[in-house]
Amino acid sequence: MNALHDEPDAILDVLGIGFGPSNLALAIAVEEHNAQVAPEHRIRAGFLERQPSFGWHRGMLIEDATMQVSFLKDLVTMRNPTSDFSFLCFLRERGRMVDFLNAKTLFPLRIEFHEYFEWAAARVAHLVDYSDEVVSVDPVAGPDGEVRWLDVVSRVPGAPERTITRRARNISVAVGLEPHLPPDTALSDRIWHNSQLVPRVRELNESGTPVGRVLVLGAGQSAAEAVDYLHQSFPESEICAIFAKYGYTPADDSPFANRIFDPEAVDVYFRSKPEVKQSLVDYHRSTNYSVVDMDLIESLYATMYREKVQGRERLRLRNVSRIRDVRSLDDHLEVTVEYLPTGEREVISADLLVHATGYRPRDLDTLLGRTAKLCLRDDKDAVRVGRDHRVELTPDVTAGIYLQGATEHTHGLTSTLLSTTAVRSGEILDSLLAHRTADLADDLTARTG
Ligand SMILES: Cc1cc2nc3c(=O)[nH]c(=O)nc-3n(C[C@H](O)[C@H](O)[C@H](O)COP(=O)(O)OP(=O)(O)OC[C@H]3O[C@@H](n4cnc5c(N)ncnc54)[C@H](O)[C@@H]3O)c2cc1C
Repeated sequence: MNALHDEPDAILDVLGIGFGPSNLALAIAVEEHNAQVAPEHRIRAGFLERQPSFGWHRGMLIEDATMQVSFLKDLVTMRNPTSDFSFLCFLRERGRMVDFLNAKTLFPLRIEFHEYFEWAAARVAHLVDYSDEVVSVDPVAGPDGEVRWLDVVSRVPGAPERTITRRARNISVAVGLEPHLPPDTALSDRIWHNSQLVPRVRELNESGTPVGRVLVLGAGQSAAEAVDYLHQSFPESEICAIFAKYGYTPADDSPFANRIFDPEAVDVYFRSKPEVKQSLVDYHRSTNYSVVDMDLIESLYATMYREKVQGRERLRLRNVSRIRDVRSLDDHLEVTVEYLPTGEREVISADLLVHATGYRPRDLDTLLGRTAKLCLRDDKDAVRVGRDHRVELTPDVTAGIYLQGATEHTHGLTSTLLSTTAVRSGEILDSLLAHRTADLADDLTARTG
């Protein structure tokens, strides 16, 4: 049954905004719960996604890039190791179980994990509406003034005049991160963010457009991947990495540091005082931020050195440097790069500039609209969130907002990652169920009263 279509006026128990891995994992948790309980105990769930079909960072689906998380941290296994939504069950269905095993790795290809996500999303497709972009969330009060429901307003991309409103007792906001760009950067055919990388490169290669020099700004994993991918995709071009560091820093994936991604670490982080939270993030930043897999660092270095030996240096590095100005001319870019130790500036002519400058949380206040005012804030104006991922709201509100991804300040480094996705979806389901009895009684009173 499609809860969004079959009974369009029914109040949903939970409406998910965004359908990336976080809400996909929640959809599966709900589906597994519903399969085990009597109809009256089922959770009525729906999900809205603005993309036309399921897609996970499609612009960075580089053919040989691998996952940075074990396949056991898939959508379900850490919550329910017997689930048939696991990566292993996906492999079995695809007939690749033995072949994967022989590859002796915990880290599948990114394209393969995307295929796994798509497979799982297809199995819960009846819970999702694609091409449906949420534009605001309005609080709805009962006759007593208590805010019991949330009206989620969405529109079909490209048809702003058509909006659809759905009512829910709870929403689960998992809208991911958005590309971060240096101030005043305007994207164009020549200036990209790395999230556009793969389709942009394909376009240029298909059209046979000559590419002389490409600059890549940034020193994190995406930047290093972009440098490597561009170097392979444009065999005649010079690819130049620009960053303020001296060299790429390796990602710390050693076993003790990796425990910062354990479900228990979320408990520890959540309980800690602000200064302890900050020190945990600072100590373990190198597990995730502005760092690169060691294999990739070594491979890039080997390429640079080999080219030096051969006397044809296509892969170049401008370290300890910053971009100070970018001018777009008719047929190329002129990029002013400052070498920081001396302050010396040089204007470099380039065909393309790729900003691999990271991602940042989306602006929740804009998305939530009037509902944002109901969220309680801490002394840094960040939204207060409970351990069960439920936002703390003003006392007149019994509707619920669950937040996934935008909770690094409360739940730690795993918030934006996949490590605890499965466990988190179980925690949200448990919280929904715990609030449900009270919700049902309220709805009944509202209907009869
Ligand atoms: C290239 C890349 C590789 C990564 N690899 C890893 C990895 O190997 N391991 C790891 O742990 N993490 C990795 N990450 C981190 C990444 O954040 C998580 O993998 C994951 O995407 C988080 O899932 P999510 O569902 O919270 O967010 P997202 O995957 O970003 O999904 C959010 C969804 O919400 C939709 N949306 C946004 N706004 C609206 C709206 N208003 N209405 C409707 N829909 C909306 C978006 O279209 C999107 O589909 C990677 C990130 C990148 C960029």
